[in-house]
Amino acid sequence: MAESIRTDSIALINSVIYPMAYPGRSQAIFARGGVIEALGTDKEILAKCDTKTVVLDMKGRYIMPGFTDTHNHLLAAGRSLETLDLSDARSIDEMIGKGRHFLAENDISADGWFFARGWDQNRMAEKRFPNRFDLDLISSDIPLFFERSCGHIAALNTKALEILKIGAGFRISGGIINSDEKGEPNGVVSEAAVNWVRMNIPEHSAETLRHWYDLATEKMIRCGITSVQTDDLEMVGRTQGVFDLYESMEEEEKMPLRIAQQWHLRDEGELAAFIENGNNRRGGRYFRSGPLKIHVDGTLGARTAALREEYSDDPGNRGVYAHSQGELNRLVQRAQEAGMQVAFYAIGDGAIERCLNAVETANGATGSRIAHRIVHCQVGGADLYSRMAALGVMADIQPAFVTSDWPIVISRLDTERARWSYAWKSLINSGIPVGAGSDAPTEPLNPFVGIRAAILRQDINNEPEHGWMPSQCLDRVEAFSMYTSGGANICGELSWRGTLEPGKAADMVAFMEDPFIVTENELLNIETGLTVVDGKIRYIK
Ligand SMILES: [Zn+2]
Repeated sequence: MAESIRTDSIALINSVIYPMAYPGRSQAIFARGGVIEALGTDKEILAKCDTKTVVLDMKGRYIMPGFTDTHNHLLAAGRSLETLDLSDARSIDEMIGKGRHFLAENDISADGWFFARGWDQNRMAEKRFPNRFDLDLISSDIPLFFERSCGHIAALNTKALEILKIGAGFRISGGIINSDEKGEPNGVVSEAAVNWVRMNIPEHSAETLRHWYDLATEKMIRCGITSVQTDDLEMVGRTQGVFDLYESMEEEEKMPLRIAQQWHLRDEGELAAFIENGNNRRGGRYFRSGPLKIHVDGTLGARTAALREEYSDDPGNRGVYAHSQGELNRLVQRAQEAGMQVAFYAIGDGAIERCLNAVETANGATGSRIAHRIVHCQVGGADLYSRMAALGVMADIQPAFVTSDWPIVISRLDTERARWSYAWKSLINSGIPVGAGSDAPTEPLNPFVGIRAAILRQDINNEPEHGWMPSQCLDRVEAFSMYTSGGANICGELSWRGTLEPGKAADMVAFMEDPFIVTENELLNIETGLTVVDGKIRYIK
């Protein structure tokens, strides 16, 4: 990682600045001690500089507030940058070939496991999940863990099942261990069982975690991301392990951007202990303890997202809830009493309804209000959106999902419900604060992938023709806001960062091309010229 260039004060001149705040465009910006002091003309800003100020002539480049990625899995995203990508496998045979080739070319030293992700049976000729017998053809000595693109279903080979002691009759609450005709596990696991596997893979060494951390943070800084909220507990296994990693990185000054951890704690007992130890209040200048993350349901792909009415293509099935309403109420109330924001993982309209019930109950019981947020927030409804707005519940969306999911949404849901799905424009028009994230490694870390998706609602081949549900397409200002001011807002930090205004954090990015002028497809190729966090240069082209 490039050493940061230390500066007390910094001035960027001869640029086009989009501050994402009133009064709009300016030419130059000045910051001292990590805080913006002024925006203005080159002449005005140069007048503030002294001999110690680092002055950069930006040669007409385009400056914006640094991006916020509101939700990803930082360590898994780092790992994915060097694991096998199966998203273009068109058959199980091709997947096996890619796996063998990867093993021949790479030294599998990451704690001895071979990780791959991105397969999707809908894109493969056989139209079925790969199982352990398929994966055994890649290796029978090395344990294999191949995740589906959604991260909610995975395939393991026989060696991995042996190491994890998953045999006939093995059960995980909330999870599914698929078996063959003989009742033996066939290597396919889903929902809570995938998390269980992740947590029970023998612990990754601190060195491996640091390596994945370096890969991810370096990539984010290059993409202009200056702030992120990440959920790493599954990967690390223990809350203390997460603190050890991130707090040591900050202490050693190896944290090039602001990072908050989203805590996916398992139950009320774990939450109570976490709060008791003051873990929710820990934080430094760069790393801090973030919201409680509660998984409320599953996914549309696996038909486990919790719906109010049955799935159109699976009569009788309304999906799966991870918690009863009572459990959910208690978790939210406990978090709210401790002043902790809740980031609900909720995809179906049934799940979102349950979240809103829990927030209402917690507000009544505590006499207080916290702006909580719903991560993903995919299948909605007019009634749900007006309740969200009234309760101040915010939306934390992953716009790139629409480009991957639209073909299945139409079969899972009828037209009326599909109309209220991935309905980003309706969320904004309902007065709900919206921020956006990548959910990497599910989708790429690059925020422009999500920005383009929010504007076009088309996949990489520009399908469907006018965008899926085109009335929900966002304009460019709305799309960029979700990754700047909107992102800071749903993280509860808009008062001190997220726009370029005097008094706010000097977290900014300069692009080589004008992001408000290039075509939507060209957004994907925009190059970052400079990333500044806390007034310090973290990346320079
Ligand atoms: Zn996620």
